[in-house]
Amino acid sequence: MSVENKGGLVIVSEAACKAVIDRESAFSAVESVFAAMARGDAYNFPVIREAIGYADALYGFKSGFDRAGKALGLKSGGYWPGNEAKGLTNHQSTIFLFDPDTGKLRALVGGNYLTAVRTAAASAVSIAHLARKDSKVLGMIGAGHQSTFQLRAALEQRNFEKIVAWNENKDRLGNLQAIAEEAGIPFESVEREQLGAEADVIITITSAFEPLLMKEWIKPGTHIACMGTDTKGKQEVDPALIAAATVFTDEIAQSITIGEAQHAVAQGLIAEDDITPIGDVINGKHAGRSSDDEITIFDGTGVGLQDLAIASVAAELAVKKGEAQQIEL
Ligand code: NAD
Repeated sequence: MSVENKGGLVIVSEAACKAVIDRESAFSAVESVFAAMARGDAYNFPVIREAIGYADALYGFKSGFDRAGKALGLKSGGYWPGNEAKGLTNHQSTIFLFDPDTGKLRALVGGNYLTAVRTAAASAVSIAHLARKDSKVLGMIGAGHQSTFQLRAALEQRNFEKIVAWNENKDRLGNLQAIAEEAGIPFESVEREQLGAEADVIITITSAFEPLLMKEWIKPGTHIACMGTDTKGKQEVDPALIAAATVFTDEIAQSITIGEAQHAVAQGLIAEDDITPIGDVINGKHAGRSSDDEITIFDGTGVGLQDLAIASVAAELAVKKGEAQQIEL
C-alpha cells in the first residue's frame, strides 16, 4: 500500500470507506488483482474458516500478498446469521494491512461495505469479460444484503432491459425492485424455472446448501455468476450445469474446495484443469467466451487479495481526502 502516512497506523471507518470507494474504483481494484493473481504476482494464503459453536457464527481469516501492489495483510471476520435482527449486517469484517518491508501494521480498514462492493465488483468483472454483449435480461437469485450491491454493479455492465428475480422469501424482493425502478428497468418476481428461461445473465447470491438452478432450465449462451458459495457444503447450482458450462473462477484452489465447483469436482464431472482463472481472460491469455451458445460460469469464491486490494485503495484515498484517522502505535 502506498499510503502517505507518517509511519503510524491509519484507521479507515466504514463511513470513510463509503465516502471514498465507489463502484468504479472497486471494479478496477478487483480486475487488477485478478490479473495479478493469474500472472503469479499475487497469491492468496489458505483460508481459515470455522464454525465457532457460538451465535451460529462462521469466523475466519482470508489473507495474501500482492507483490506488485505491495499489499500484505488479512481480512478477519465472518457471518453472524442473527445480526439482522439486531440491526447489523450478517457479515462482519475488518481488514488489516501490513508494511511488506517491515511487517509493521499500517492500516485498519472497516470491511463490511468493502466486502459488499468487492464481491459485487467480482461478478461485474465476470459479466464485463464473459457475458454476451447483447445480454438483455438479468436474473437475480437471492435478495439478501449482498444482492443489492450485486444488482447495481451488474446493471452497469450491459444494457439490460428487464430484471427477473427469485428469493425463497418473496417479501425481500422489494429491495431489488426499488433499484430496478430507480434505474427505469422493468422488474418481475418469477419462479426459478422461468428465470432460467428468460435470463441472459444470472447472479446467484444466497446461502443455500442445495442446487437452486437446474441445467435443463438454462438457455444456451447464458452467463452465470455464482457468488454465494464460499464454504464447504454450500451449493447454488446443479453440478450437471457446471459440467455443461465453461467454468472460470477467481482462484482455482478455492473453487474446487469451497466454491461452487466443489460438488462437480467431487462427483468427477469436471477436473481442476477444466477451470480457468478469470485473470487469464483479463490478461488476454484465454479468449473467454468462444461462442454465443456457450454457457459460461464464474465461480466467485471471494479471495483475500480482493479485500487487500480494495482496502489499500480505500486507505490511500481516505488519507488523501482527510477521511482517515492516524495514530502512532
Ligand atoms: P444474507 O443473509 O443477507 O442473505 C442470504 C440470502 O440467501 C437471502 O436471499 C436468503 O433468502 C437466501 N437463502 C438462505 N438460505 C437459503 C436456502 N437454503 N435456499 C435458498 N435461498 C437461501 O446474506 P448476504 O450477505 O446477502 O450473503 C449471501 C451469501 O453470499 C452468503 O452465503 C455469503 O457467505 C456469500 N458471500 C460470498 C462472497 C464471495 O466473495 N463469494 C462474499 C460475501 C458473501
